[in-house]
Amino acid sequence: MQIEGILNERKICIDIKGKRARLIDKCSNPFLKNVWVMPGFVDNHLHPLEFGLSLMFPSLRGLTQEEILDTFAQRKEDFIYAFNYTPSNEKPLTEKELNKFNKPVVIRKVDGHSVYLNNRAQNLLKAHGFEHRGKDNEQIIEKWENEFIDKDIKIEAFLKADRTLIKEGIVRYAALTGNDYPSNNDCELLDSIKHRLKAQPYIFCQTYNIKRVLRNGWQRIGGCILIDGSFGSHTAALLEPYNDKDTKGILYPEQKRDEFLAFLERAIKYELQTAFHAIGDRAISFLLDAYEKVIEKPNPLKARVEHAELLNDELLTRISRLKLILSMQPAFISTWGGKNKMYDKRLGTRWKNTARFKDIIERDIILVSGSDAPITYPSPIKGIKTLINNPNKEQSIDLSLAIKTYTSYGHYALNIKETFFPSDEGIADIVIFNNNPFKNGEITHVIKEGKIVYKN
Ligand SMILES: [Zn+2]
Ligand SMILES: [Zn+2]
Repeated sequence: MQIEGILNERKICIDIKGKRARLIDKCSNPFLKNVWVMPGFVDNHLHPLEFGLSLMFPSLRGLTQEEILDTFAQRKEDFIYAFNYTPSNEKPLTEKELNKFNKPVVIRKVDGHSVYLNNRAQNLLKAHGFEHRGKDNEQIIEKWENEFIDKDIKIEAFLKADRTLIKEGIVRYAALTGNDYPSNNDCELLDSIKHRLKAQPYIFCQTYNIKRVLRNGWQRIGGCILIDGSFGSHTAALLEPYNDKDTKGILYPEQKRDEFLAFLERAIKYELQTAFHAIGDRAISFLLDAYEKVIEKPNPLKARVEHAELLNDELLTRISRLKLILSMQPAFISTWGGKNKMYDKRLGTRWKNTARFKDIIERDIILVSGSDAPITYPSPIKGIKTLINNPNKEQSIDLSLAIKTYTSYGHYALNIKETFFPSDEGIADIVIFNNNPFKNGEITHVIKEGKIVYKN
């Protein structure tokens, strides 16, 4: 199959044979002509189960209080589970309204780090031995999804996520999934249905159980294992207090420094790639302290920091010295960054030290992009637009580098060894657009390993 198109404003012909793509001088009999092409995208930070669930259950993004209550009234399930709630200042949801529904209501805030329950949901969790004690938001969600969302729903969620990812040109992704809840087997479940998926997941199992990972032959551990929380919920750990609340956030493993270090040491000993969620500067510093003790210099196992949002110069120097990979989310800054937005409110002038894409690239640190779906919608094209047009203006980067954070750097950060299109010869992961994707072009075909996996 031959495709004649435009790549980076250059006319090219791609010759696809089996899994491989090769750039040749001229197409003799092109299957597609006058199209725009890009390499297949990698989303380096995505929660496929939660993302799939967020597609099955209502998303409350942008809905008014009335619309939310309407949405809930129409649901047929015997519980209500909803995602992406953004409390509005004028009319937030009240407990009284939620208690009117005679079934459990569980609502996740947009940042994923807070949860709202009605009385029925609280009683149900209590009956299963779990009392809501204010700070346990993450554990509530863990409990809820492990006890009340069954296997068939989870499989459907993985498949739904897959269909959406492929539509956006994402052919590979870091699949951050699972947890240490006693009955949890989300990582195993995803692994067992891999053959039914079009986009390829690279599993980061979010567990401290190294045996579980080794038993399954996975090469990665961690993901959104929390070093801290989020700016939105005032739980990201900061070196200096928040601008709008007298707190420095929460450093979850603070009291368990030695245990954390011992875990990291073992993971490295078994040659696992590691990743941890660290957003605030104090959390990143904590993680670097640990990495500096156990990692050898050019970072052979490609250890990563997820999010790495608030970075001072000292942290950047330490990251570049160790050659750690930073896995970041461009959509965070387009949603919450910039003057008078949430980061400004929480951090004051420190918001200028978030999303430091340019400073990162200039220090030769590998930067890769992801969506953290369902926290933000997985759209590499939108992510690339934010990378080149950062609300934190001085931190914008070049288009070609921005694309690399979703392609070649993306492969590097997942430790994938093969070469890919558009090198002279490589695996044919290709996204095809009917026009310039940065103007109004839309995806018409997605090719993975030489096969058309999506057609619009
Ligand atoms: Zn995270
Ligand atoms: Zn995440």
